[in-house]
Amino acid sequence: SLSFTHEFSHSGFKGKVEIPTGLFINNEWASPKSDGARTIDIVNPATGQLITSIPEGLPADVELALDAAHNAFNNTWGPNCSGSERGKYLIKIAELIERDIDKLASIESLDSGKAFMRAKMGDVTTAASVFRYYGGWADKIHGKVIEQSIDKLAYTRHEPIGVCGQIIPWNFPLVMFSFKVAPALATGCTVVIKPSELTPLSAMYMTKLLKEAGLPAGVVNVVVGYGPTVGNALTTNPRVDKVAFTGSTAVGRMIMEAASKSNLKSVTLELGGKSANIVFDDANFNEAVKYAAHAIFFNHGQNCCAGSRLFVQRGIYDEFARKLTEVARRVKVGDPFDPSTYQGPQISQTQYDRIMNYIESGKQAGAKVLTGGERHGKTGYFIEPTIFGDVTSDMKIVRDEIFGPVVVMTSFDTEEEVIAAANDTKYGLASGVFTSDLARAHRVAARIKAGTVWVNCYNDFHVQIPFGGFKESGIGRELGEYALENYMQVKAVQINLGKSCP
Ligand code: NAD
Repeated sequence: SLSFTHEFSHSGFKGKVEIPTGLFINNEWASPKSDGARTIDIVNPATGQLITSIPEGLPADVELALDAAHNAFNNTWGPNCSGSERGKYLIKIAELIERDIDKLASIESLDSGKAFMRAKMGDVTTAASVFRYYGGWADKIHGKVIEQSIDKLAYTRHEPIGVCGQIIPWNFPLVMFSFKVAPALATGCTVVIKPSELTPLSAMYMTKLLKEAGLPAGVVNVVVGYGPTVGNALTTNPRVDKVAFTGSTAVGRMIMEAASKSNLKSVTLELGGKSANIVFDDANFNEAVKYAAHAIFFNHGQNCCAGSRLFVQRGIYDEFARKLTEVARRVKVGDPFDPSTYQGPQISQTQYDRIMNYIESGKQAGAKVLTGGERHGKTGYFIEPTIFGDVTSDMKIVRDEIFGPVVVMTSFDTEEEVIAAANDTKYGLASGVFTSDLARAHRVAARIKAGTVWVNCYNDFHVQIPFGGFKESGIGRELGEYALENYMQVKAVQINLGKSCP
């Protein structure tokens, strides 16, 4: 069967939800060409138990999805569908997401382990606002007339790049789906998207909503499969005009290489981070403590822009460490469907092991565990909110992205010193600065090498504000007007109005 039904019963939602499992190609759910013989187990990270097994897509399925995407681009979408029409579809999709907010949030909690209320008010709400926002852009995309001389007319056309391959991770499955699909459709591109093999269920549910919204066949195709097969097929295939990827820096490197070896497809990458959060001694102390906890423990630390390196000015370091430890101990870890839960499980046994190995390496290297550092509970992949103090810059826990609820804390004396320390990383995704000195806030913001600087806040996202990485944290920006550039190419048209051939 190409769908399964899950019965939810929690304080936020009770009811049965049917979720498609077939590959979504040309607006139909299909068995993979391999005949469904291979399946992917979808596991509930809160319990370690199987939710369902779904058919595994393979490169042959990517070919069919690309046929559909090209056909749609050439016939019903792309240049053949006005911006106003495209906008209507996107806004309709936003409305359907809002209508099904409890279902989608329940699916997201079940599949990824994030707390239901956070999935509902954060992830699902964000996804709807992303579709609505880009729906608003769809009919406002146009080129420029360039005045050059009286005998010449020149103008630019902002054309969709074409068929896009999109590859997304497991930490924000639905949000990433919206960040990728919405701007692509707004500009007139068509899409073949590969969700993470760990968390495909919200994307699969979205296929029902895309169809209900009346989106023409082939505009969005979803192929669930593994990175080295389906992901690799999308990055190496010359019929993909652009690849947009969110995930690890290691895979990002492979994607650029595959793009250069195939058709030089354009590439945007949203990659890892080891973001610095800097607290000066003149900051609002209590707010800075709360934000420092939110910066790292939000989404169980599985957040590319997590404030995982915390720098606190020497005069307040001890008190800050004490207060942050208190807050960390109060973080409610547990069942994602319990309304009081803040932190759910890590996504998988692999991630759990990886994080625990980092914690062990921190202990071995002599960093002081201020709190946490152990497994939480007996089932599922839960880890205690963990704070390491007195770390040094050579430690692995300071250099590598851990992608879990683990923060490393260091003290500093001067602004100069902390800027150098904050920038001492190959990553450059985000950063935080806490201070009440306005001039210092702007000075530091200008000198941090990262795509986002949050001043007196953290993890504050907005659909209108661009997000993306400096250095090895990525290429290109998502959200805001900037994201449209990822999916367009500029054509210059030059018309001779009477100039003789020189
Ligand atoms: P990952 O790179 O292993 O996987 C991401 C996606 O890439 C998955 O869909 C996976 O199947 C696919 N993939 C794996 N190998 C591939 C290959 N050879 N070719 C093509 N696709 C392939 O990362 P992950 O473990 O899923 O996610 C964790 C990492 O992602 C972290 O490092 C995190 O920082 C990063 N991340 C970054 C952002 C961001 O916005 N910058 C957001 C989320 C996650």
